[in-house]
Amino acid sequence: MTRPIVPRIQLNDGFSIPQLGFGVFRVDPNETERIVTEALEVGYRHIDTARIYGNETQVGRAIARSEIRREELFITTKLWNDDQGTQSAFDAFDASLERLGLDYLDLYLIHWPAPAQDRYVETWKAFERLQESGRVRSIGVSNFRAPHLERLLAETDIVPAVDQIELHPYHQQPETAAFAEEHGIAIEAWGPLGQGKYPLLELPEVTDAAAAHGVTPAQAVIRWHLQRGHIVFPKSNHRGRMAENFDVFGFELAPDEMDAITALERAGRMGADPDES
Ligand code: NAD
Repeated sequence: MTRPIVPRIQLNDGFSIPQLGFGVFRVDPNETERIVTEALEVGYRHIDTARIYGNETQVGRAIARSEIRREELFITTKLWNDDQGTQSAFDAFDASLERLGLDYLDLYLIHWPAPAQDRYVETWKAFERLQESGRVRSIGVSNFRAPHLERLLAETDIVPAVDQIELHPYHQQPETAAFAEEHGIAIEAWGPLGQGKYPLLELPEVTDAAAAHGVTPAQAVIRWHLQRGHIVFPKSNHRGRMAENFDVFGFELAPDEMDAITALERAGRMGADPDES
C-alpha cells in the first residue's frame, strides 16, 4: 500500500500540521519505542506526546531509529501543570526537547489551564519567548475554554495556534470550538474515539455510516472529525488498528451521515473539568 497523503491544516503562524497523527497517552514507556516505530512504519508522521505521559524518551528513540528526515515529522509535546511559570517553563521545555532527542519542537502546548494556580498567562508569555528563540515552531494550549482563551488574547501578544480539547461525537464543546474558529485557532480533538469508553463505535448512527462505505466504525468516526476540520491523533497499541485508523482517505461521509453523528452530542465529558484541573 502506498502511504496516503495526509492533508495539512494551515496554522495562524504560517506553519502547517498534518491533520491526522498518532497519540501516545497511556502508552506504557516499556512499549512506546515499539509502538511508535510501528506507527511510523504504517505512515504516521505526526506524533502527540506530553511530559506527563512519561514516554518522551522512548518516542525520541523511535524517531531516531526511524531515520525519517526531521522536516517530514511533526512532533508535539506538552508542559505539565507543575511546570507552569517562567523559568520553570523554560527548564521544562529544555528537558522535554532533550528527552525527545530533538533540536526543535513543532508544537508545544500548555497541557491544562489549571486556573487555580493562575499562572497560565505568565506561562504563555514564556511560550512566546520560546517561539522567538526558534526552538519551537508553533505554540498552543490544551483544555482551554473560551474564557481562558479570552484572557490570553487580552493580556498577551500571540494568539495560540491550536487548542487541543476533548472532542468526540458525545462531547463537541461547541462554544470553545466556535470561539477558536472566530480567532483562527485550530482545534485538535483529543479522545477522538471516545477512548473506547463510550459505546460510540456501536451506535447505529456510526455503524450505519460505516456499513454504507464499507469501512469500520472507528474509520467513520475519524472521517467525521476530518470533515469537521479537526486535527486528530487516535491512539492504538495494535498495528492493525494503527493501519485502520490511518486508512481514512478513500471515502467521504455524506452530509446526512455527518449530521447524524454530530447529533450524538450529549455533553459527555470523559476527562477532567478544565476549570478544576
Ligand atoms: P482515543 O479516542 O484515541 O481512543 C483510543 C482507544 O480507542 C484505544 O485505546 C482503543 O481502546 C480504541 N481504539 C483505537 N483504535 C480503534 C479501532 N480502530 N477500533 C476500535 N477501537 C479502537 O483516546 P486517547 O488516546 O485518549 O486520545 C488520542 C490522543 O489524544 C492521546 O493518545 C493523546 O495524544 C491525546 N490526549 C490529550 C489529552 C489532553 O489533555 N491534551 C488527553 C487525552 C488524550
